[in-house]
Amino acid sequence: MKPSLLLKFSAFGLSTIMFRRKKVIWGTIILTDKCNLSCKHCAVNNITATIYPYEQIQGEMQSLYKMGVRILFFCGGETFLWSDGGKNLRDLVVEAKRMGFLLVNVVTNGTFPLNLPEADLILLSLDGGRDTHASIRGETYDEILKNIRGATSDKKECCRVIEILTKRGYPIFNLTSAFPYLVNNDFKTPCFQCVVMENGNLRVIGDMLRTYLKYI
Ligand code: SF4
Repeated sequence: MKPSLLLKFSAFGLSTIMFRRKKVIWGTIILTDKCNLSCKHCAVNNITATIYPYEQIQGEMQSLYKMGVRILFFCGGETFLWSDGGKNLRDLVVEAKRMGFLLVNVVTNGTFPLNLPEADLILLSLDGGRDTHASIRGETYDEILKNIRGATSDKKECCRVIEILTKRGYPIFNLTSAFPYLVNNDFKTPCFQCVVMENGNLRVIGDMLRTYLKYI
């Protein structure tokens, strides 16, 4: 991350904490609920298998930008399945950058070739070791490892390894200070700085947490 961006986000974080502001900076757009996997824990895949149209997503990007969102995530379903009118996921990333989002990130299950040089961050899903992963997500582990290596088998061990790699200077997005909360599942919710947009509807992060916490 560029030092100027880091400064900008640090100032936002500090002023949020100091003045208890509820201004949004992080937004998510769900591109589709269509997915090529059927993970055991999943409550959202292929409910309608709708690929949302390009113009609608473009409108959602504009809405989020006007609200103040500068860190944008594209989520699914499986984001690499999204295409509309000859445009694909990479076109959405490029368009988001053009609009002025400072960080544009993509969440994927990792089973498709990662051809997104313009994305700032690509998050892939690996659930522990090969057998555990396969029991949850099917036989996709080796395919995903073509893109990412060194998975560990539980959250604590995973956080330990990430912390070591962070100290070695790897470009890792996670905050090591947040790991104890992740491991113990005792982080506070909701987070007023995040919003989720799906099919033209704005949903606060609390809705998402209420849905997903049932499956933890
Ligand atoms: S990859 Fe994601 S969207 Fe697809 S089934 Fe698994 S958890 Fe659900």
